[in-house]
Amino acid sequence: MEFRFSPEEEAFRQEVREFLRQEWSEEATEGGAESPLGYGGGRGLDEIRRFQKKLAQKGWLTLAWPKEHGGMGASIMKQVIFNEEMAYHRAPQQLGVGPDRVGPTIILYGTEEQKREHLPRIANAEVIWCQGFSEPGAGSDLASLQTSAVPDGDYFVINGQKIWTSLAHVADWMILLARTDPDAPKHRGISYFLVDMRTPGITVRPLVDMTGRHAFNQVFFDNVRVPRKNLVGELNRGWYVAAATLDFERSGINRVMAGIRLYEELVQYARETERDGRPLMADPTIRHKLAELKIEFEVGRLLAYRVAWIQSQGRIPNQEASMSKLFGSELQQRLARAGIEMLGLGGQLRPGSKWAPMAGRIADYYLASVSTTVAAGTSEVMRNIIAMRGLGLPRG
Ligand SMILES: Cc1cc2nc3c(=O)[nH]c(=O)nc-3n(C[C@H](O)[C@H](O)[C@H](O)COP(=O)(O)OP(=O)(O)OC[C@H]3O[C@@H](n4cnc5c(N)ncnc54)[C@H](O)[C@@H]3O)c2cc1C
Repeated sequence: MEFRFSPEEEAFRQEVREFLRQEWSEEATEGGAESPLGYGGGRGLDEIRRFQKKLAQKGWLTLAWPKEHGGMGASIMKQVIFNEEMAYHRAPQQLGVGPDRVGPTIILYGTEEQKREHLPRIANAEVIWCQGFSEPGAGSDLASLQTSAVPDGDYFVINGQKIWTSLAHVADWMILLARTDPDAPKHRGISYFLVDMRTPGITVRPLVDMTGRHAFNQVFFDNVRVPRKNLVGELNRGWYVAAATLDFERSGINRVMAGIRLYEELVQYARETERDGRPLMADPTIRHKLAELKIEFEVGRLLAYRVAWIQSQGRIPNQEASMSKLFGSELQQRLARAGIEMLGLGGQLRPGSKWAPMAGRIADYYLASVSTTVAAGTSEVMRNIIAMRGLGLPRG
């Protein structure tokens, strides 16, 4: 068996690299982990917005969208290559969840009016979207959500609270799940809405994460009136629309490639650094740890490619996506731990300290990697999916 990209795909990879060489300066990037605004740590919102516009001009924000909806109709593998290069070069592939989640969901389930209103603005990087799914009492068990939407003429009136909403503080729009039938079984009483974040009654309060950054938020809804035309799909069938949105979320090559980049830098550091008069590379423990990680990154990449291949066959990956997410996110944590151990006490210094080895990337990555096994579905939930759908075991 041999895996190889086609000459056309390789040419596209070169084109993306050349674009990044011209438009994205990695030197200005601090930290190696995901920043509050996605990749591109330490950059301001304006700079990331400008970069998004350039991606939009190339049509790369919406590479895999069908042509009739303003996309480039590119293959899934081209999308994978694009994601790989962006993550490897620490460039912000998108701002918010518009291009990869909201757009494809609207294409599948949206009305003609919703398509006309929202798709071009997402494709042109004019709007930032956030995802209002999780609540204080509903994360893994998302179907238990309590935020309510009650019909009132041409509107629904929303009351409740969302939490961990990434980028809500800069977002223009939100995809929101709310309960529209409190008496129905929990999965069958939920609806999916598009909500303008400027609607009166919405309050966004910051949450500062353990890296010290403000990336996610609490969002409160107090009698927020959302037009009925902003309902996506059928009333009370929002759970199934949300399932499609979440399927678009989990393929996983980005996290593997961002890790590979940091891993390569760690190898370089071990080559070039001496401790107690001996090169780090001479330490058998370090050599073995780096060798183990090498294998794991290879596995991580193949798991992510498998997910992409299943998508390219027109199928929706299921336990395969969970395997990729579980392995890739736990690998990020193993890399972070190995890095901290290798760098010693200095490895805890953050970006900005002139004494920090590897520009503080490892310290940053270590802190940020804690959340990787929680965001987008916890490791326990991924294992449950693999056990049930992969092995056919009964629900635990
Ligand atoms: C960085 C980050 C960004 C996020 N961004 C967003 C966002 O933009 N929008 C959004 O809606 N949400 C977002 N989230 C929320 C995320 O989706 C939830 O944190 C996640 O689904 C877990 O839910 P929870 O935090 O309520 O934990 P809980 O579901 O309460 O889980 C607590 C613990 O119980 C375990 N557990 C739960 N159920 C089971 C089970 N059945 N079997 C075994 N163990 C179980 C979990 O694995 C976990 O260890 C974000 C989270 C993070 C960390």
